[in-house]
Order: sequence, then C-alpha cells, then structure tokens
Amino acid sequence: MQKKSPIVINVPHSSLYIPEEEMQFFEKPKLIRELVAMTDHCCDDLFDTGHEMLTFPVSRLVCDFERFRNDDEEIMSEKGMGAVYTRCSVMSLLRKVDPVHKERILQTYYDKYHGIFESLVEDKLNTHGKCIIIDGHSFFETPLPYENDQRKDRPDICIGTDSYHTTRELEKELKCFFRKSGYSVAINSPFAGAIVPFKYYRKDRRVQTIMIEINRRLYINHDGSLKEGYEDLKKDINGAVEQINTFFG
Ligand SMILES: [Zn+2]
Repeated sequence: MQKKSPIVINVPHSSLYIPEEEMQFFEKPKLIRELVAMTDHCCDDLFDTGHEMLTFPVSRLVCDFERFRNDDEEIMSEKGMGAVYTRCSVMSLLRKVDPVHKERILQTYYDKYHGIFESLVEDKLNTHGKCIIIDGHSFFETPLPYENDQRKDRPDICIGTDSYHTTRELEKELKCFFRKSGYSVAINSPFAGAIVPFKYYRKDRRVQTIMIEINRRLYINHDGSLKEGYEDLKKDINGAVEQINTFFG
C-alpha cells in the first residue's frame, strides 16, 4: 500500500523502452551501447520505497524529462542532448529528428508527464501543505564524453540541491545518513541541481527538492548483472527516504 506522505519520487531515466514508431529514426548499431551507457538502470526499483513515484515511461534517448523544453534555455542542447537527443554520449549522431517530429515527441511524452508531475506535487501541497521531491538517478562510474564534469574521482553518492528549493537541513541530513552508512558523498558533483515543476520553480518554498545520484559501480556489473550488494543499497536508499520523511515530512 502506498504510504501517506508529502514525498514524490521522480525517476526519469530508468526506462529502456523505445516505442516501435520511434525505432526507425535511430542509428541502430549504436542503440544498445547508448541504452547501456545512458539508462539509470534499476532506479525504478532502487527508489521504489512505497511513496508516490513517477517513472518516465520511455527511454531518455526518446525524450529526456529533466531537460528544459526550450533548447535556448538548455545548456546540453549545444551537445545535441536537449529534451530530444540527436547525439550519442560519445557525441556522434544518434538519430535525425525534424522540427515537426521533435514537437510531436515533446507533446506526447514531455508535456504529458510534466503535467502529471505538476498534479502530483499540487496534490501533496493540498493534502500536506508541503511537498518533498526526491529525484532518483544513477551515473556511470567514469565520466562519459558528453558530460561536463570530466574529473575521474567520482563519489558513491552525489546529492544535487537547489539554492531556493533545498534547505541546508535537508541537504545535511541526507549527506550524514549516507556517510554514516559508509558511502562517499559529494554535493552537486559531478551532477548539480534537482527538479521542480515549472509552475513552482523559484516561486513556492513549500516545494522542496533533492537529487540522489547513485554511482553504478555500487550495484551493477559491466555485463549488466546485479552486484551482490544490490539489496543492501536498496535498503539504504529506503532508509534515506524514511529519514527524510521522519524529519521533514
Ligand atoms: Zn538520470
């Protein structure tokens, strides 16, 4: 049964699904490699803690829920990786998308799921007077060529914060929880920020957000099999979410 809490878990990058009608546009030989490299494998399970959860239904290679819709606002669009990717993680061509097709993708997936996300947050505000978004991701052990941060010393856990929507207390609590559990933790490194629906962005402090990015070396082997520590990691993520709910829910 779903827990009653102000928490909304957002998992935007775990799907491996590419709809049939989109398949034809991809450079097929690169597709498997990109799905392996870019997918936040198993995050829909790792972050399944019994709280309200929004899981984006298609691969980020089709549409990336966490980018800005408008390329002019999205820094990654310079690398062909705005909300609708045209480039691979190694910067070569991933697919060709004309403007009409791009708009169709944005309306079908991006707009629809941002609408659902906004409603979930609104429901929490109406019911609990607050909402805490936990943005659940994972990242590659070594920097991928497209990534802005190319430093090699990556932590076990990266916590992303927003200067308006993340309180110091929330950041500190989560950081301490993971450190006490034996993980190395960095704040906003190698990835920064955390998602908030546009309607509330920098307008409503009742909406808090924090991102948890898990280093994939903790739970998945290079052949895609799960590591022995998978269940322990899942338990720790569950513990972190419960800690947030106890202190801030
Ligand atoms: Zn991600």
